[in-house]
Amino acid sequence: MELKLTDYRTEVHVNWCPGCGDYGILSSIQQALFELKLDPSNVAIFSGIGCSAKTPHYINAYGVHTLHGRALPYAIGAKLANPELTVLVILGDGDGLGIGAGHFVNAGRRNVDLTVILYDNGVYGLTKGQASPTLKLGLKTKSLPKPNINQAINPILLAFASGYTFIARGYAYDVPYLKYLIKEAINHKGSALVHVLQPCPVYNDINTKEWYTPRLYKLEQEGYECIITNETTEEEYLRKISLMIQKANEWGNRIPLGIFYRDLRYTTYEERIEARIPSYRLNPPAKQKISDPFGKPITYIDKILEEFLI
Ligand code: SF4
Repeated sequence: MELKLTDYRTEVHVNWCPGCGDYGILSSIQQALFELKLDPSNVAIFSGIGCSAKTPHYINAYGVHTLHGRALPYAIGAKLANPELTVLVILGDGDGLGIGAGHFVNAGRRNVDLTVILYDNGVYGLTKGQASPTLKLGLKTKSLPKPNINQAINPILLAFASGYTFIARGYAYDVPYLKYLIKEAINHKGSALVHVLQPCPVYNDINTKEWYTPRLYKLEQEGYECIITNETTEEEYLRKISLMIQKANEWGNRIPLGIFYRDLRYTTYEERIEARIPSYRLNPPAKQKISDPFGKPITYIDKILEEFLI
């Protein structure tokens, strides 16, 4: 059956504030899934808690609205149980880089084949606009009584340090470009991050659409490319990474969008498991029988429990 764009939408009423950047991100994800012709029954989307976390409700695919900061462990579990799934992880900047920061870091070093989409508005929108881990030091949004006293996390550099092998940044109101980045991230084999600048017109009156528009530019317009392969020499690597770090730190008058980093040197976590358990791909946990035709469990854990007897 030929899939249509509407096949990726649900009938759930979209419940974000008027003008929220989340609408553009939702549309970009739906269009990316449609253009990649991904069967909705083979896509699973996980979110934590926050405005961004409503996203799975609006996309016709499997979806789990999990706990605050915990979308990644759920998503990794699902991907490892069924490696054929296309897995998207929706994180908010507070959700994913505050309470969920440990999961964000450890997901990178495993290189599980999934795509993290980080909605970044600099505030905890769902709870009235407290400063999130990405709000810059000294900024005072209208929701804060005093300027932010903490320094900001740089999601691009944290992802690089953690081991993500694809790192990009998009903008919520540039849907065609964000769709392109999400498609590239899904097609990448390994852990991919798409950091999305997402205005929150209700609580963040500093990083608004009017503020972003004159500052944003695309990395490829300057001939930038950072692809690392096994053939990359040490000298080339240092030159490329040095420029990548420079671009990731660029903020203020000019803010880059695009693919910051693509590393093709590493196997995925699933490939590492397969190297240890050759039957893993053909017979992953999701395909294993757990009951007989009458529903009686055929999995016994007695033997495993015996090992713990003292
Ligand atoms: Fe969007 Fe901000 Fe409203 Fe949340 S509070 S839905 S981020 S505009």
